Amino acid sequence: MKSPRFTTLAVRGSYDHAESASHRGSLSEPAYLTTAQHFESTEAMFAAAADERDDWVYSRRGNPTVRFLENTVAALEGYQVDAEVSAAVTTTGMSAVTMATTPLLSTAVGANPNIVASSACYGSTTMVFTKRYGEERGVGVRWVDDPLSIEEWARRIDDDTRFLYAESPSNPTVQLVDIPALAVLARQAEIPLIIDSTLATPALVRPLALGADVVVQSLTKAAGASGRSMGGAVIARHDLRLRAHPPEMAADFAGYLRRGLLRDTGSVLSPFNAWTLLGDIRELRTRVDTMSSNALRVAEHLAGRADVVEVFYPGLESHRSHAIAKRDMWLVDSDVDGREAVNRFGFLLCFRPAGGTRAAYEVLDRLDLIWRANNLGQVKSTATIPATTTHKQVGDADPGQGPVPPDMIRLSIGLEHLDDLIADLDQALDGPRA
Ligand SMILES: *Cc1c(COP(=O)(O)O)cnc(C)c1O
Repeated sequence: MKSPRFTTLAVRGSYDHAESASHRGSLSEPAYLTTAQHFESTEAMFAAAADERDDWVYSRRGNPTVRFLENTVAALEGYQVDAEVSAAVTTTGMSAVTMATTPLLSTAVGANPNIVASSACYGSTTMVFTKRYGEERGVGVRWVDDPLSIEEWARRIDDDTRFLYAESPSNPTVQLVDIPALAVLARQAEIPLIIDSTLATPALVRPLALGADVVVQSLTKAAGASGRSMGGAVIARHDLRLRAHPPEMAADFAGYLRRGLLRDTGSVLSPFNAWTLLGDIRELRTRVDTMSSNALRVAEHLAGRADVVEVFYPGLESHRSHAIAKRDMWLVDSDVDGREAVNRFGFLLCFRPAGGTRAAYEVLDRLDLIWRANNLGQVKSTATIPATTTHKQVGDADPGQGPVPPDMIRLSIGLEHLDDLIADLDQALDGPRA
């Protein structure tokens, strides 16, 4: 078979006819809801425990169902990437953020490490860097105030910098970074560029193809769109250039995590959750396509209303990241057979209704179809006010960190019909009939 397209990889993953034969022909990937494996002999057990055969042994070291998900995630994120790619899946997106960064901060390879990160990061990521690394472990945390300024990134890097980190688009203000330009800086410094690509998903952007080294995904979001399981993934290209670290870490970073930190600390995904996520991830492209084209229409509609002060969406020309979004956000394989490639800008947008914070609470309260909930990327549209929910910890800890206006509503567009979504937003903005 010539190299399969994105949707084929999403549907099939690594579970092909041959693989199914060793699972009694099961058409669906079986859920191995078990803690450990029985061996036919002592010798076989020793060989598996010594990693001499590709086996799993104990579900904290690995599990066949979890491995099917890892292989699928690696195939999607590695699509059209000119390198070998592998993945490690984790309990949550935050666990993936922690796994992707912790090993790079080892003081065994040098004292006083620092990191350089975009100031537009998810609330809990900001807390991991500021509190867990900065305050508790003395890591220097250098925030880039304007993530679009390559000059500012360059200025903050020195010989003790261990990695560059950015979210693109960021949650909640949907700001992008210039991944290819940051990749040049990272290569020069021989440190990895880590991108949290949760809001783009591999259906729209594959950061590894744009030059990034490591990708973090919260599978809780659009990958697991039915909203049944949390999960995360660290996906990395092989043969990283890591100035300060052992060669086995550089050779296969995700494999190194699976065999080391992930196994030792036990942040492994439950096989049941892996199984539900496998069911969802197959339709990622179609779903993200529909959600994103509806999100653009919603953003345009809101921007056209006189009682909406501001709309944040990379698909709008008014957004600061619009030029980069137009350059980098494409629906995967929309250009096959000579067709013109299609821009898609994701399913997340934010808006500020006129009238301030009180008015924003009232608009949120009047939503009748859209759910008031702190998740995103789901087939069900959801809305929240990040300043008082997902980003509250950050605002409490440091009011200067990450500008999230208190009257900004974050909207994640799902798969309901566009007309119904717009009608719900209109009635919420119009307010009670006089
Ligand atoms: C939600 C989210 C995370 C954290 O994922 P969890 O699965 O909730 O732990 C990380 N990054 C971004 C951009 C997110 O939206």
